[in-house]
Amino acid sequence: MSAAFDVLVIGGGAVGAVSAALLSDDRQRRVGLIDLKRPQMPDADSDFDPRVVAISPGSRNILSAVGAWQAAPPDRLAAFTRMSVHSGSGSIEYRAAEHGLPCLGWIAEIPTLAAAAWSALETAGRVELLAGSRLENIDFGRDRITLTLADGTRLTARLVVAADGARSRLRRLAEIETDSWHYNQHAVIAHVECERTNPGQCWQRFTDDGPLAFLPLPDGRSSIVWSLPSEQARQLQGAGNRATRRALNRAADDLPFGRVVAVGQVYALPLIRRQARSLVDGRLVLAGDAGRTVHPLAGQGLNLGLLDAAALAEVLDDWTPRQDPGESLARYDRWRTSAGAMVANGLHAINELSAERTGLGRRLMGLGFAAGARLWPARELFVQRACGLDADSPRLARGQNGRSAA
Ligand SMILES: Cc1cc2nc3c(=O)[nH]c(=O)nc-3n(C[C@H](O)[C@H](O)[C@H](O)COP(=O)(O)OP(=O)(O)OC[C@H]3O[C@@H](n4cnc5c(N)ncnc54)[C@H](O)[C@@H]3O)c2cc1C
Repeated sequence: MSAAFDVLVIGGGAVGAVSAALLSDDRQRRVGLIDLKRPQMPDADSDFDPRVVAISPGSRNILSAVGAWQAAPPDRLAAFTRMSVHSGSGSIEYRAAEHGLPCLGWIAEIPTLAAAAWSALETAGRVELLAGSRLENIDFGRDRITLTLADGTRLTARLVVAADGARSRLRRLAEIETDSWHYNQHAVIAHVECERTNPGQCWQRFTDDGPLAFLPLPDGRSSIVWSLPSEQARQLQGAGNRATRRALNRAADDLPFGRVVAVGQVYALPLIRRQARSLVDGRLVLAGDAGRTVHPLAGQGLNLGLLDAAALAEVLDDWTPRQDPGESLARYDRWRTSAGAMVANGLHAINELSAERTGLGRRLMGLGFAAGARLWPARELFVQRACGLDADSPRLARGQNGRSAA
């Protein structure tokens, strides 16, 4: 293998794999994708992975444009057509049909999405897939970057995309600082069974302890995400099935699918908000969790990352490898920093307000939801934004560029 690439993407999660596919659309660019290992498609009869995410229609358009959506097994995707959020005595509900949409999004497993993106890359045959490689080091040159892998292989690229996740090694090697906020919360995640099947509804309540969401799984169960103070999350994780059921039923006593009757394995993940001070350093660009992580209460992290991938492809549409990408990357930096900050700040404010001890914050939010429910233009704006279909979203997310979802 010769070592000179035009674009190298480090990190083949969903964001990195989609970035590589979009940047290779122009056949004149030599593009490579590097990851520690190739993501595997789950066996047809295996249980759903605990790492599930809500995918917006905009993200679906992006995944479709590279063939990844078509490569994901449909029976591992759950569409949701309703979403309701409750706080204090107020609530707001969104229905897809009221906004002219077939659904508001899908619940999907992260490994399935990544494996589907790799499978689409293999089918298209335009990206060199370097699975089983670990990025170790990086040297910045004036018109190319040299990367060293763990086995000593040296590769060069005119442009490097760091999509190597929240603890990005590339970000650290480039000495790009981050602003971080430890929420002192863990997200408790588990798959649960309720008295009635979940018909395709996302339901969320801001409980006294933290936001608790029930997301539909394709088999009628729900996946829960409960952001709790870290100590409480750890206790719940070790509490056993019965105690967890009881805690869930106390916190979600008005769940529309009845009581929780069975709880699968419980996991707890620390919640940290991070924002890289810059998404670009010379010919290095950060995408996805490498550039930012946000509170999961609105399920936006991967959606933001896929919008990064589409935005990067859009600003580099006319770029040829001999040109300096500086101006295009500066545009990407401004665009995605401000879009990401708007979401991260909003989620941060909601989480802080809802965690206010006296319960006043949750009551105020409930009043806000009740008032917002009647403000049609605001609702419509919110849905367009949350679905990745608003004017600030990349063209591909809005289904433009002739590459729209089928
Ligand atoms: C509890 C919880 C719930 C969430 N819910 C949602 C949701 O509903 N909707 C949503 O949109 N988002 C959600 N998110 C966020 C979402 O999970 C992440 O934003 C997303 O998975 C990040 O994808 P990524 O491709 O950027 O990074 P990753 O998936 O972390 O991929 C990084 C890749 O880089 C590779 N890598 C790392 N280091 C190296 C190296 N040195 N060399 C080579 N390869 C390397 C890794 O192997 C990995 O494959 C949630 C997050 C949490 C914690």
